[in-house]
Amino acid sequence: MRSVFPGDTPEAPDRPAVEIRGLVKRYGPKAAVDGLDLSVARGGLTAVLGPNGAGKTTTIETCEGYRRPDAGTVRVLGLDPVADSAALRPRVGVMLQSGGVYAGARAEEMLRHVAALHAHPLDVPSLIDRLGLGSCGRTAYRRLSGGQQQRLALAMAVVGRPELVFLDEPTAGLDPQARHATWDLVRELRTDGVTVVLTTHYMDEAEALADDVAIIDSGRVIAQGSPEELCRGGAENTLRFSGRPGLDLGSLLKALPAESTATELTPGTYRVGGRIDPQLLATVTTWCAQNGVMPDRIAVERHTLEDVFLELTGKELRA
Ligand code: ATP
Repeated sequence: MRSVFPGDTPEAPDRPAVEIRGLVKRYGPKAAVDGLDLSVARGGLTAVLGPNGAGKTTTIETCEGYRRPDAGTVRVLGLDPVADSAALRPRVGVMLQSGGVYAGARAEEMLRHVAALHAHPLDVPSLIDRLGLGSCGRTAYRRLSGGQQQRLALAMAVVGRPELVFLDEPTAGLDPQARHATWDLVRELRTDGVTVVLTTHYMDEAEALADDVAIIDSGRVIAQGSPEELCRGGAENTLRFSGRPGLDLGSLLKALPAESTATELTPGTYRVGGRIDPQLLATVTTWCAQNGVMPDRIAVERHTLEDVFLELTGKELRA
């Protein structure tokens, strides 16, 4: 079969760490992934977001070589994740959402076993310590709490000093302390030049960690960019202020640029939408002064990644 990546040169330094073109993966008649294109730059952190069932795990598992594409092409570090799995194994760390671990094995024993498969592993005791697993090193995997199992899975993904690591919902169900310990470790990986691809449902996690965010819905990437780019390019920002109820917003609208909106959300609470810049803020405060309105509160509210995510993917619950 002809490669869809012309001049397939696995080690080209500027080549993306992950290249996915036209990926299709079906389960029965249903396409879980439906023509997905995604490129992940080397050395950065890409967060893959999407509603339940959007196809994130299927995509990641295809990159990990656990699933074969029905159509399209996937290259990881320039290699085919299925055909070249032996070459990729020492270079790629994988944290699965669940499983992949012998339930009877003790936590530290298992981590040592994984470390021994690699040429230059991290120091196991210090990794255990960093992830707060010191007290349960001798505990069987099945007896670990959900959060401890998560942290052990993360340790197993990174102990081999991979070039690229896939983390599927690494902080799901973790307490705030463990979540921050995970974030610190992930930040260090990125500082060390490791490419990190993580899926998450926590928008604050993506905002805090990601250089690049890909939003997946119905098996396709519907938006990709830095958190700042996505927030800037998505919904407009808003300005809110409070004053006496029933103000005549018609005169305010006349003073504002044409594309602006002005609404009384609840009696005495007003929202101005549109391009919020210093000039618009000045126009609103001047209008307040001219109308004898002393705003109790005036605030510019920037749209968060969550606002953009909901705007792009809608508010309906997924099956
Ligand atoms: P979540 O956020 O809930 O983890 P996701 O974005 O990771 O979701 P996937 O797990 O990739 O989504 O699932 C995509 C779709 O494929 C879903 O509709 C799911 O039910 C279906 N699916 C996933 N794995 C299988 C499987 N082994 N057999 C049949 N259907 C599957």
